[in-house]
Amino acid sequence: MERLGDHDGWTLERLRDAVVPPTRLRTCSGPALHGLLAAAVEDVGPGPFGSQARSPTFLQALEGVLEELAHGSVSAPALEEAAARLGSTGARLGHLARLIDAATTHMDRAGVELAPSRWVTASSVLARGWPAHLLLQQVELTVAPPLSPGMVGFLSALARAASSSGRALAVRVPLTGDAHTDAALEPVLQAFEAGPDLPGVELLPELAEGPLSEPVRRLGVAAPGSLPTDALEAVVAPGPRREAAALVDALRRALDAGASLDRCAFAVLGTPQAAELERALEDAGVPVRRRAPVPLGTTVAGRLGLLWAGLAARRAPAEDLAWLLRQRLLPRIRVDARLDPLPLLRRAGVRDAALGAEGRSNAYQVRLGVFAARSREAGDARDGDAAERLLGAATGLLDLAERIPRQGRLADLLEAWRAGLDAAGFWTALEEEELESDPRARRASAREAAAVEVWRAFVRDARAGWKASRSPGPEMDRAAFVRWLIDAAATLPVELAPGAPGGIDVLPLESLDGRPLDFLGVAGVDAASFPRRAPASLLGDEERQAIHGVLGRAAVPALVGSGDARSPLAEAVDRWRLGRALASAGRIAISRRRSAGGAPADVVQRLLGVTGVQERDLSSQPIPTLAEAPGPAWARVRLALEGTVAPDLRSDAADPVAAAALEHLAGTAWLEDARTLAGVEAERLQTAAGLRAPGAYSGRLGPAEDLVAAVNGRLGGSPEGPLSSTSLTALANCPFQGLSRKVLGLEPPEDGAEELDARGRGQFLHEALEQLVKRLLALGLAGADPATLPADLVPQAVQTAAREHARCAPTGHPRLWALAQTRARTTLERLLRSGRLYPFAGLRPAAAEERFGPDLELPAALPGERPVYFRGTLDRVDRGPSGTGVLDYKSSKRRERARAEVLVTDFQLPLYLLALRGRGERPPFQAGWLSLRTLEFLPLDPDRTGPLESFLATDAATRSSTSAPNLATAVHALLAEPRQGLFPVRPRECGFCPLGSVCRISERRAPQGGEG
Ligand code: SF4
Repeated sequence: MERLGDHDGWTLERLRDAVVPPTRLRTCSGPALHGLLAAAVEDVGPGPFGSQARSPTFLQALEGVLEELAHGSVSAPALEEAAARLGSTGARLGHLARLIDAATTHMDRAGVELAPSRWVTASSVLARGWPAHLLLQQVELTVAPPLSPGMVGFLSALARAASSSGRALAVRVPLTGDAHTDAALEPVLQAFEAGPDLPGVELLPELAEGPLSEPVRRLGVAAPGSLPTDALEAVVAPGPRREAAALVDALRRALDAGASLDRCAFAVLGTPQAAELERALEDAGVPVRRRAPVPLGTTVAGRLGLLWAGLAARRAPAEDLAWLLRQRLLPRIRVDARLDPLPLLRRAGVRDAALGAEGRSNAYQVRLGVFAARSREAGDARDGDAAERLLGAATGLLDLAERIPRQGRLADLLEAWRAGLDAAGFWTALEEEELESDPRARRASAREAAAVEVWRAFVRDARAGWKASRSPGPEMDRAAFVRWLIDAAATLPVELAPGAPGGIDVLPLESLDGRPLDFLGVAGVDAASFPRRAPASLLGDEERQAIHGVLGRAAVPALVGSGDARSPLAEAVDRWRLGRALASAGRIAISRRRSAGGAPADVVQRLLGVTGVQERDLSSQPIPTLAEAPGPAWARVRLALEGTVAPDLRSDAADPVAAAALEHLAGTAWLEDARTLAGVEAERLQTAAGLRAPGAYSGRLGPAEDLVAAVNGRLGGSPEGPLSSTSLTALANCPFQGLSRKVLGLEPPEDGAEELDARGRGQFLHEALEQLVKRLLALGLAGADPATLPADLVPQAVQTAAREHARCAPTGHPRLWALAQTRARTTLERLLRSGRLYPFAGLRPAAAEERFGPDLELPAALPGERPVYFRGTLDRVDRGPSGTGVLDYKSSKRRERARAEVLVTDFQLPLYLLALRGRGERPPFQAGWLSLRTLEFLPLDPDRTGPLESFLATDAATRSSTSAPNLATAVHALLAEPRQGLFPVRPRECGFCPLGSVCRISERRAPQGGEG
């Protein structure tokens, strides 16, 4: 027993333990108790509670009821009697009574007790008189909500025993003075007021003494605005970061005004607010002493444990597996830091272990194996090696995760989960690491170490509970186990180690210890989130009334207070805590986040009303002014904004303090960096809008001659490096796209989808058609009547094309790939049998996939031009006595607009015609597109090209004398800018650009006024 003197730091709990020293029974709660409660559910059955009765949430609620009943000294028989009084509606309460009875039996057998039951025991000891072993003459203590009936009963018994034994007892009750706000303390006040006068016993109501104590005390009676104060400020912020910035700025001002940091605190209602505040405090250089606990599920260790449990049950999603393989907390299966698993899995088309699995091989084995083989065949040994290493790591991880049985008793599933993590090195990973030198990294490690310890304690307590109940828990499958684990553990609090001594506290509202503060900041308090609702109880109002009827007293009240002040207990406690904290602190800053229909919490709203303080709305000022910036990070953002934004683009007023400060910061490295970045963005937007010539960040290479020469070398157009029509198309659509593809050699990122994308489908159909025509030519059937052609022509062509396609490109899921082949067969059959394969009257296929160039030349004829050489492949050449036709197979939707795009972004058919002429083919020439989507033939429109003689003319005289479209003129004009090293970001259309997924510029537009 503690040896405390008459006045030394007595609390209600300490007095209770002094009256009744802890017995050999262990107090029990949480996961350890849940094992016993689960055993009770197994004994009695779930009854009207159904399958939910086996969930941790139900067991948590059952624990809550057990505690309430213990506080109220309510026995299982009393519950049964109440259930009987309820008649047909008492079935639920009756079953609850049986559960409570079974749980009590299990707890007795296991030698454990609930902490609240000790109040009742202590009260009954005091009822017999002051205990002789308690050598105290005077006791002073302070009580604070929540005060259960058991605690109030103990206090009454203590008062009677003290008075009758001639001892002095002083009970201080901290109040705000407002009945609504103090409702949570009403039970203790009533107990003393209703009882007899007890000599030597004093109940000492204590009002707070801060500058806001009077407004809080008169919340319900003072006229609006009648109690003005400058100790209160309230803000509405557009987001959590801005909210934290405003609160830390308020703290900074309080410190400037003389507040002592160790007498300052922030109170929060949730983890995200605490995290934002801590970030803002760190930026401002303010040390934090005590921190709010975080839920286990928000830590890396917490997330890791939950994902591990679900990996096998959820068929190992690629995202989860990739994340797990990168974790330092799994040192024995972690992959090399240089190997990023997710992009590689995407490229290999791995979604999870099931999609694409074959036989006994899971999809990781199948698809990573295929990817590795394809990479090697394409000569990319690095990708091949990486895929094989990743496959090894994934297999190792899946082997461990698969150890969790598909079906089993809960204790066995948890043990398999624990053992798998153990094999991966989870439990000791941080112990084996060297101490971090960076304080932030050290803090992060300490947080993860604490989270690992929470997992360890959870496993230990759960095991202890099952052991005590002599039951391995209910039978369940993997999916149910994951749900159970999330339910039981995700919200367990991870207590963080204290930080710097003398720093500020960032604590949950309920953890404020009642000491007077110079400054209190309260974050995230609005009508939706405050006061917080208690979790739903298993006892309904009617059932509580029935219990009270049986016992003749309010043993398990759900409400406290009277009249208008009556409210649920948890809400009343929250209200009192906030009211008391507001009334005690020297300076208050309250914030909430703007939300649709949002309003301040009721206590705050009434306080704003009586003080006349207005909430300051920060929505139009997402970045604090320099004077209000709480730390260097925000200050830099404001200064950078002030120093770079064009006046026409401002959404808020200029900040004169920042503008003045800028003058003294000229040349500062970070500001210059910010200016450079802003300049880069402005340049890109303006170039894209055609407002300026390209610069160094928007597509200009050069002007150094050697650089421009190197660019020209890569750009091509010479006999050694001829151009293709595809390059011309890229340059014409967006010179920057041409630069990326042709000069820099960037390829669009590969994504192994389940199905061929539009581009892949087009390529495959193109290849199949090529095979078909080649086969017709090889068999001498190009001129045959389609009705007489052999039946296997198309299937064989598609089969050959499929084999070729699969060698060099991902083909997705085998079944969808088979469907794609079927579709290709149908399309080609229709094309062949309908005769649409032969669109030129009198001409029949004579050649397929014939190469031309690199000597196909557009000579320099006019000043400033340089010869351009091309090469390419003619999709198909048809010949006959009436001339020559050239066909371009097209699959994309854009081809419907193909004719309008000739010499704008489409140069294919004009170059084909030039090639035909260069090869001396028999005129007249015909040309057109064969759409593989609609099987429609689109002839090149003579209205758009004019006579082919002038369209294909390359000599100066013809080109100068005609205003009709001319291939050479269009190509030379298109290449004029790139030849000077200019590739402006000037997109005609980003939608079809293969770089769209990685291009930062895309179709962003400079807003009006962007000229500045
Ligand atoms: S996404 Fe748009 S801006 Fe970017 S390269 Fe492609 S076409 Fe140009």
